[in-house]
Amino acid sequence: MLLIDAHAHLNDKSFQTDIDVVVKNADDVGIKVIINAGTSPQTNKETLILAKKYNIIKPALGLHPTDCVKLTIEQITKELKFIEKNKQKIIAIGEIGLDYHWHKQTKEHEKQKKAFNELLKLAEKLNKPVFIHTRSAVDDSLEILKKYKLKVILHSFGGAKKQIHEAIKQGYYFSIPTSIVRSTHFQELAKLVPLSKILTETDCPYLGPKKQERNEPSNIIYSIKTLAEIKGITEKELANQVFLNYQNLF
Ligand SMILES: [Zn+2]
Repeated sequence: MLLIDAHAHLNDKSFQTDIDVVVKNADDVGIKVIINAGTSPQTNKETLILAKKYNIIKPALGLHPTDCVKLTIEQITKELKFIEKNKQKIIAIGEIGLDYHWHKQTKEHEKQKKAFNELLKLAEKLNKPVFIHTRSAVDDSLEILKKYKLKVILHSFGGAKKQIHEAIKQGYYFSIPTSIVRSTHFQELAKLVPLSKILTETDCPYLGPKKQERNEPSNIIYSIKTLAEIKGITEKELANQVFLNYQNLF
């Protein structure tokens, strides 16, 4: 099977000692591409280093809304320049977005929105797809995204049914995490989203098939199984379609 992990954080400390094994496990089950998403100046650098070392890893660089809150405007501007400087190496911009769950102050929301807009402008300029993180901020995120002509991938989308339909109408892609094996929310999401708009991801080390265990790219095989059951097709058909979706995007 040709498998895709569209969103991973293999730069995470928890992979430090056995990254070689983790990459081999992925390769063994048929993973062809792991998109590693940077979230901060530090992890963007780490993502580029990983991609240089492992062929299977493709870099996406971004600024997570939580990191945007912590950085100064100058630091954000500097990082935008860093991302642009590496435009030839990167496959996408992400992860980027809005998070009002961990940040409740209006001041923080304004800063996140400002950075989000700058990052989307950059993605448009560089003609790169975007990986979107949105938590408790779906309406604002969708409203901002509408202003841009971009290939949008909503990663681990937690929106309600109405918001899911709105995003489907906009033609957005949905990258569904491995926790689909235990999450009724993601199972419902998979039912609603057309097959041609589905990507598979781990978001590792988070959102694994087992809640307490570190997640890794090879676990994509479990989401393939669940997704195939939901869509009523074989695992091979499902995997091939996801691979085709990946090729259409990148
Ligand atoms: Zn992530």
